[in-house]
Amino acid sequence: MPTTVASAQRRIARLATLTAVHRAFHWLHLHQPQLRRWQLELVRIPAPPFGETARAAWFFDRFHALGLTNIHIDDAGNVLAELSPDPSSTPYPLSPPPCVLISAHLDTVFPAGTDCNPVELEDAARIYAPGICDNGAGLSALLGIAAALRYAHITPPIPILFAANVGEEGEGDLRGMRHLFERGTYSRRIAAAIALEGSGTTAVVTRALGSLRFRVTITGPGGHSWTDSGTPNPILILSRALTTIADLELPTNPATTINVGHISGGTSINSIPETATALLDLRSTDPVQLLSTATTIHQIFDDLLTSLAHRKTTNCPPKLLIEIIGNRPAAALPDDSPILQTVRAVDRHLALRTELRLGSTDANIPLSRGIPAIAIGTGGTGGGIHTLQEWYDPTGRETALRRILLALLDTTHLTAQSVSLPREEHV
Ligand SMILES: [Zn+2]
Repeated sequence: MPTTVASAQRRIARLATLTAVHRAFHWLHLHQPQLRRWQLELVRIPAPPFGETARAAWFFDRFHALGLTNIHIDDAGNVLAELSPDPSSTPYPLSPPPCVLISAHLDTVFPAGTDCNPVELEDAARIYAPGICDNGAGLSALLGIAAALRYAHITPPIPILFAANVGEEGEGDLRGMRHLFERGTYSRRIAAAIALEGSGTTAVVTRALGSLRFRVTITGPGGHSWTDSGTPNPILILSRALTTIADLELPTNPATTINVGHISGGTSINSIPETATALLDLRSTDPVQLLSTATTIHQIFDDLLTSLAHRKTTNCPPKLLIEIIGNRPAAALPDDSPILQTVRAVDRHLALRTELRLGSTDANIPLSRGIPAIAIGTGGTGGGIHTLQEWYDPTGRETALRRILLALLDTTHLTAQSVSLPREEHV
């Protein structure tokens, strides 16, 4: 371990002395107003869940203007582009070569019709707009990193894949990332992933909080409250099950929670309801615990329904339907993972204190597949996340962008070298 930490430190120190890296830093230093303009421009383009097309088209054009290659929109709606190796260099011994993904999600939590126009106050750095930080900050950082690398003529040993991806928030259920890693043309090639997420300079998400979300529906024949009295009542059945769930003793280690976020059902005060529905959000830091608690919840509903069916008070017993409406896998990056050593070494170089965080981000997908991944803040400060009062202040964001650039380049070089093929030379 100590030797790998020391070698990470040496690699970063060397990287930071390269003229090309200095040029990239210089671009970032001079172009803070450009980043702000991009951010103001993109945040105006609505990107509600499942409605990212317009913002994706804008990104397609930006990637094009930056001179990236293989620019396309995949079947899920992700905008992809490559920064490719120098074509005159020795071809990589694997074809196609592995690549390193750097991504930022396009979608916001705000429904179509939300006023997304940014508000800037006189003489203040702060910008107000829904989605300005989450993930306007990440998206403008993605462009900034691409622009700085292009300006500095940095060509990586293996492709860097830039992605402005769909479906990170809520009901999007990480569908953009899922597509990239499960079915997309790059699915077998992505060897490491960095997701750019919101503000902050020191945090790095290395543990993926898992969640399973259910819609539970109980149905019965319904009827008149007086004349059909005795008919199973879905609202009461649902309530009984939810009370049992509320009494479950959940572990604090691994941290596990259940929320009943919404219930609905029934027709009127004098009707026995035909249906009752609840939305449940179950979370855990541990994938095994997540699954076992989900099983317990299913068992509670199953047992209750079975006991009611046996009562034979009706020839039309209540029915249960449990649908999974969200599934974010839990996982964690090992402490000795090279990408984490890289980040720690970069932070030491930049005199930053690395703060490891738990989060539910795009990094959940690669992490759950054993692919080294982090989600990282893109600098500045933000607040009011997921509210109409969301704000972002880019002051100081340059440091975070340097941090990301160094981590990305080092990870790309490490990934290129870690392929176990005989090679005459390496970069
Ligand atoms: Zn986000």
